[in-house]
Amino acid sequence: PMQELSQFYNALQSATAALEKLAGVLDERPGVAEPRRPVPLPGGPARGAIALSGVSFGYRPTAEILTGLDLTIPAGQTVALIGPTGAGKSTVAKLIARFYDPVAGTVSLDGVDLRQVADAQLRRAMVLVTQETHLFGDTVAENIRFGRPDADDAAVEAAARAIGAHDFIAALPDGYATQVHRRGGRLSAGQRQLVAFARAFLADPAVLILDEATSSLDVPTERLVQHALGTILRDRTAVVIAHRLSTVETADRVLVLDGGRVVEDGPPAELIAGGGRYAALHRQWVDSLR
Ligand code: ADP
Repeated sequence: PMQELSQFYNALQSATAALEKLAGVLDERPGVAEPRRPVPLPGGPARGAIALSGVSFGYRPTAEILTGLDLTIPAGQTVALIGPTGAGKSTVAKLIARFYDPVAGTVSLDGVDLRQVADAQLRRAMVLVTQETHLFGDTVAENIRFGRPDADDAAVEAAARAIGAHDFIAALPDGYATQVHRRGGRLSAGQRQLVAFARAFLADPAVLILDEATSSLDVPTERLVQHALGTILRDRTAVVIAHRLSTVETADRVLVLDGGRVVEDGPPAELIAGGGRYAALHRQWVDSLR
């Protein structure tokens, strides 16, 4: 009976993990409908060109947060979004990932309105990684594999190696079979972030939308995360809500948002030379790291 009970317990655990995955995916997109007749992206797989055209949006009808926003991001570009709290950075990121639909205007991927793109194609094309990115109550391996469910163990490990997470995972008591707890547990904040990055790397989306965590990490972990970021942002369109100076400095383009508007837009070096908002912020940033 004890053996049966433990088998039952294991089954219950994996059922719970499966439910959590489902809830994590479904929960986050209120009010977004799957198109009845999806339009395929031109040329098959996504290239990753993003355009916001005349986008207005508010979480409530009475409070508009974005008004007539125009923004074009060519495929392959890394864009750092910066600006004060409440500027609209997360809102822009969530609209690009179609967590919400705009009230007016369109958000498009490779020229197709997101409202016309089949959910499955959108999920393959775009991945959003935020500070709340769900790690499931399952093993480290399964948490990474969630990025591409058909990946074998070798592919899971290759993703972890590419991200620089393999060494710490291999040093865990059960290695890749170590159970991850939904909150905290054995993995530190930085390690959880690396697992989320390995998952995104394995998914290999054309567009990665990333909210850099603000949590302060110890120096070695910070270095690992910084290196991992360089790896996952490469060779794809990336929109990063940036909290690290290094991320902004290495971006192709910086967008400064304030009050739901783009107040500065250009390559970081150009904005510094221009002596505007980013230039001032950059100076403060550099001073604070001295
Ligand atoms: P940022 O990411 O730059 O801090 P946000 O996009 O989160 O800015 O927020 C922009 C505005 O939208 C803020 O005024 C914020 O209070 C509001 N807001 C953000 N999320 C929600 C939400 N889920 N419901 C209602 N208002 C929200």
